[in-house]
Amino acid sequence: MYILLMGPPGAGKGTQAERLIEKYGIPQISTGDMFRAAVKSGTPLGLEAKKHMDNGTLVPDEVTIGIVRERLAQPDCRKGFILDGFPRTTAQAVSLDAILRELDIRLDGVIQIAVPNEELIQRTTGRLICPTCGATYHIVSAPPKQEGICDKDGSALYQRDDDREETVRQRLEVYGSQTKPLIDYYKNSGHYVEINGLQSMDAVFDDIVSALEKND
Ligand code: ADP
Ligand code: AMP
Ligand code: ZN
Repeated sequence: MYILLMGPPGAGKGTQAERLIEKYGIPQISTGDMFRAAVKSGTPLGLEAKKHMDNGTLVPDEVTIGIVRERLAQPDCRKGFILDGFPRTTAQAVSLDAILRELDIRLDGVIQIAVPNEELIQRTTGRLICPTCGATYHIVSAPPKQEGICDKDGSALYQRDDDREETVRQRLEVYGSQTKPLIDYYKNSGHYVEINGLQSMDAVFDDIVSALEKND
């Protein structure tokens, strides 16, 4: 199963990817996670990415396309993957088409999770992440059992630097101008489906799975 998960920051892509990983046993390729890992280990890629992430702008296409090209060539991607947060520009989408052609892969679903901006601000500013397992929580809609502590491994949860309201507003602007146009790019591809992301996490997941399995 080759899945492209699209949608604005905070729409629930990571949340749904966690469930899709479990259901289909395929890896999640999140460029955001890859950049955060690089920032944490202080590599040159991390230093470059951090400048853009802190401002709520995009990491340059050449850099981003390069890491995705490398990642998709890994053997664990042969039987499927969930792309989350890539592509975010037309240039990235065009490059992805070329990479997929080289690998002889066709996408099974392009899933757009639609959520209005006011809700996206609530979701991002209330988001909590586990530094150990990457699980995502929300202070209101998906709180951990014990405040500030990961249910799975007991780690202290943290808030992303770029989930401050001011940075979120900038990220939403960037989404509107650079990423939203990709909806038209994929709408004609046949496997494009828009899902109402305002539903519960379970209902969103059910809609995604039905869309994917209808496409078979
Ligand atoms: P993305 O990966 O698209 O940026 P996340 O999956 O990290 O989004 O979700 C953003 C925040 O919204 C998280 O705190 C998550 O727990 C919460 N969330 C995700 N899906 C829903 C939903 N359907 N209803 C309410 N809150 C949600
Ligand atoms: P995310 O975790 O998807 O919300 O991404 C966090 C940040 O990483 C974004 O605000 C960008 O600065 C950067 N980023 C993630 N994916 C991409 C991408 N495909 N292209 C450019 N920048 C990206
Ligand atoms: Zn954890």
